[in-house]
Amino acid sequence: MKRVTIIGGGFSGLSAACYSAKHGHEVTLLEKNSTIGGRARFFNRDGFTFDMGPSWYWMPDVFEKFFNDFGKTTSDFYNLTKLDPGFRIHFSHKPPLNVPASKEELYSTFEAIEKGSASKLKTFLKEAELKYDIGMSQLAYKPSVSWSEFMNPEVLSGVLKTKFFSSVRNTVRKTFKDERLVALMEFPVLFLGTKPQDTPSLYTLMNHAALTQGTYYPMGGMLKITEAFANLAKSLGVTIITDCNVSHISVTDGSVSTIETNKGVFTADAVIGSADYHHIEQHLLDKPYRNYDEKYWKGRTLAPSALIYYIGVNKKIKGLTHHNLFFDANFEKHTGEIYDHPAWPEDPLFYLCAPSVTDPHVAPKGHENLFVLIPVAPGLDDTKEVRESYLSGVIKRIEKETGESIAPHILFSQPYSISDYVKDYNAFKGNAYGLANTLFQTAVLKPSIRSKKVKNLFYAGQLTVPGPGVPPAIISGEIAAGQVTKYLKQKAA
Ligand SMILES: Cc1cc2nc3c(=O)[nH]c(=O)nc-3n(C[C@H](O)[C@H](O)[C@H](O)COP(=O)(O)OP(=O)(O)OC[C@H]3O[C@@H](n4cnc5c(N)ncnc54)[C@H](O)[C@@H]3O)c2cc1C
Repeated sequence: MKRVTIIGGGFSGLSAACYSAKHGHEVTLLEKNSTIGGRARFFNRDGFTFDMGPSWYWMPDVFEKFFNDFGKTTSDFYNLTKLDPGFRIHFSHKPPLNVPASKEELYSTFEAIEKGSASKLKTFLKEAELKYDIGMSQLAYKPSVSWSEFMNPEVLSGVLKTKFFSSVRNTVRKTFKDERLVALMEFPVLFLGTKPQDTPSLYTLMNHAALTQGTYYPMGGMLKITEAFANLAKSLGVTIITDCNVSHISVTDGSVSTIETNKGVFTADAVIGSADYHHIEQHLLDKPYRNYDEKYWKGRTLAPSALIYYIGVNKKIKGLTHHNLFFDANFEKHTGEIYDHPAWPEDPLFYLCAPSVTDPHVAPKGHENLFVLIPVAPGLDDTKEVRESYLSGVIKRIEKETGESIAPHILFSQPYSISDYVKDYNAFKGNAYGLANTLFQTAVLKPSIRSKKVKNLFYAGQLTVPGPGVPPAIISGEIAAGQVTKYLKQKAA
């Protein structure tokens, strides 16, 4: 048995651990925090349970494939509910738009807003499905260490079919005119950490995820998924060590020799760094062993960070659905403040998750669990005053939309932002979602999943392929584990 050590216990690290164990290796996972899950951790307060990070369960096929690879299914671990409506978008001068789970209802919703748009939507979603199938079968699971992986007729013709070099914005706006439909169709790519105009049209595959596959929720919260991953890993023999901060990776003769931590020194035949790539390279490895220098990292387009409020409310709020997008402010101005001239937003869009609408387990009876997320540029100066300054404006906007009084019913509100991402996850510039999926940060152009300098060092997670989000993190772990096993086999031969 070969020893594989994994740094980081987020989704990518847990996935890499499970696959490495399945490949027959002895696996140890080192996590700096006291609980696993990484950005998908949770906390309890006064009878509320808050998922700290992800809340949208999209691409259920990726989760299902993961568990199937181990002879299991998601329902062995958690119960999924399909949300209907999947989500709701609020606009400033127009009624809110509910996104129904049923395709037929969705077509009717489109047609009622823009004449002729139902049939355009059918065509659009057919193409999105094709892109999804091509993306998942021929692109997402590739290690992307060389362009040669993509040089076969099937992949090339697939890529051409996806109109790869057009942008999501062009594709959407050529098809739909009503501003609400445009907002709805462009929204899903925000998950990739990019503006629609900078996102290759391939990624309208996200519309297939959002509108055709639908939005799910694991009862008990997203924490049920990390719990499932950890239980599976343990059942496969993985040793998980928490409160174990890796402080240095030593390299001898071109291979990792030791991994130094506060819990002692570890050795391994191969290492997968699933903590933030920049942290591993710039802070744990000595200079000669880094793939990239600081200048390279400064030139990357990061996905946004976030300002989050975890709020406990002592009443039920009528008129809320599980996922609520407040697009009642200027989208272009806010995205400009994230990507073009980074600054705290003047009048931000925000996302409100109210899981207690669906799930009685996450708030005391008669109470509401609210999670408010404002996307912000990474690397901003994050002070207590700035963090607190947005809350009352956000609450007023929710009160206006729902017609409910909320402010006097707030039991507590806990902010979380850029400096917390740095402290808790060693996140580069306090990013929340990793690296943006722009055209020039796609596939081989992303930070490599293999070290180019250290033979037995590999990377996983949202800063390498395939990109940000829970499903890509899971895929990334699978790819990294595959690369490790390939390396160990070649070495043994
Ligand atoms: C607020 C928020 C909302 C999101 N919403 C969604 C969503 O709705 N749907 C979705 O699909 N995705 C969402 N995402 C993205 C998704 O959560 C991430 O892409 C994914 O969880 C990243 O997993 P990871 O393993 O790459 O990184 P992480 O989860 O960050 O895991 C890395 C781990 O490495 C550990 N670590 C760091 N340094 C060290 C060290 N020196 N020693 C040991 N351990 C170390 C960290 O503590 C962490 O546990 C969201 C993310 C955030 C932050």
